[in-house]
Amino acid sequence: MLQKVLIANRGEIALRITRACKTLGIKTVGIYSDADQDLMHLRFVDEAVCIGPGASSESYLNIPALITAAEITGADAIHPGYGFLSENAEFAEIVESSGFIFIGPRPEHIRLMGNKVSAITAMRKAGVPTVPGSAHAVTTSNALAEAKEIGFPLIVKAASGGGGRGMRIVERVDTLLESVQAAQRDAEMWFGDDTVYMERFLQKPRHVEIQVLGDGNGHAVHLYDRDCSLQRRHQKVLEEAPAPNLPEQARADILEACVKACELMQYRGAGTFEFLFEDGEFFFIEMNTRVQVEHPVTEMVTGIDIIEQQLLIAGGLGLNLVQDDIKLQGHAIECRINAEDPSNFLPCPGKVESFYAPGGAGIRLDSHIYPGYSIPPYYDSMIAKLIAHGKDRDTAIARMKQALDEIILTGIKTNIPLHKDLILEDKNFCKQAMDIHYLEKHLLKQILGNEVEA
Ligand code: ADP
Repeated sequence: MLQKVLIANRGEIALRITRACKTLGIKTVGIYSDADQDLMHLRFVDEAVCIGPGASSESYLNIPALITAAEITGADAIHPGYGFLSENAEFAEIVESSGFIFIGPRPEHIRLMGNKVSAITAMRKAGVPTVPGSAHAVTTSNALAEAKEIGFPLIVKAASGGGGRGMRIVERVDTLLESVQAAQRDAEMWFGDDTVYMERFLQKPRHVEIQVLGDGNGHAVHLYDRDCSLQRRHQKVLEEAPAPNLPEQARADILEACVKACELMQYRGAGTFEFLFEDGEFFFIEMNTRVQVEHPVTEMVTGIDIIEQQLLIAGGLGLNLVQDDIKLQGHAIECRINAEDPSNFLPCPGKVESFYAPGGAGIRLDSHIYPGYSIPPYYDSMIAKLIAHGKDRDTAIARMKQALDEIILTGIKTNIPLHKDLILEDKNFCKQAMDIHYLEKHLLKQILGNEVEA
């Protein structure tokens, strides 16, 4: 079993990992930047090491500083959390070659899935359905021929993309070449790799994803599905588990296909297969080789602690879960709470003056904020995840509304009004899951008017 884990992250996920380690009796090392001395989890870890200045490039992305911190504290493993270095294959390799356990998949699988073209190719081979498209690099010389095969509208995406950045929807052939060039420029700027590919642009899909766990030796299970269709600029705002109203056979087939693909790869640790779901069909878009922000909704409906499973697998204790024992119980919803101005979505860092956390049956709050805490300007604006669980979707929604009403949070602006007054008051959403454009095209129009971008 692991003895001491260095948590290479910050904020709520660092606190979440600290809690999981402590309940398993594993010692913890927290790291922090100069701007993050007041992080909540630093009060609970066994040791804490400052690894550099506020800018992420000099601290949370500084591989030599992280490895040195692990060496001087005698940690035996490193948990990357999500974001930062969590899907950086080179980091995972350096962790392992420096003699530490990387709490995540093998570097080769991070690399395979980190490039969407190789990920799609691998999934096609493994029998997982993908979006009709090129599955290889597209340039201005082959774009026209490829586009004829795919049809319009299509979407140009960065092979190394992430965070919803740099995608271009192409409606007509006359804008194709300029869109490919623009996407290549964006891809080079954001990801340092100008490889782009194209696939059919699905008009009204839902975003449905499958959570998996693998032991690295060919045994894998799924923890069912989540719906993350409520998105702004391709970024998730609210997630739920299980995904509502999936046709049973299509769902059973996709769960089985994901487990088979993991077993074939001998996938290790936690992972998520992301799909677009339209007209009863699933289309693979990418795999995330790490724990996701929205993992708590799955934990609430399965009763399985996903971070604990990551730690047990990394510690060599295998995967002691059998598919037939994993049952769904009720429904869970997560609202991502960001420090941002609800009228224009711009980040609003600042000092939390007062904070009262909601509670009661089925309510979980994963957050590192507290009264007096100053949110630094350097990092992601997410400050809390509020999760509501109930026997069914209606109960989870009712509990979420009550919990949002109970929160007292002053000193900073947040997107709580977006959840409370728009999404959870929306009759269509309360009836059923909506498509990936619904939030922007219908709900945000009410606040942003014509500024809304598709
Ligand atoms: P990223 O890694 O940048 O998050 P993804 O491939 O996961 O990119 O896509 C993010 C989101 O972009 C999806 O959830 C969906 O909303 C939208 N999207 C991606 N591909 C397509 C497509 N082929 N058709 C329609 N929407 C898409």
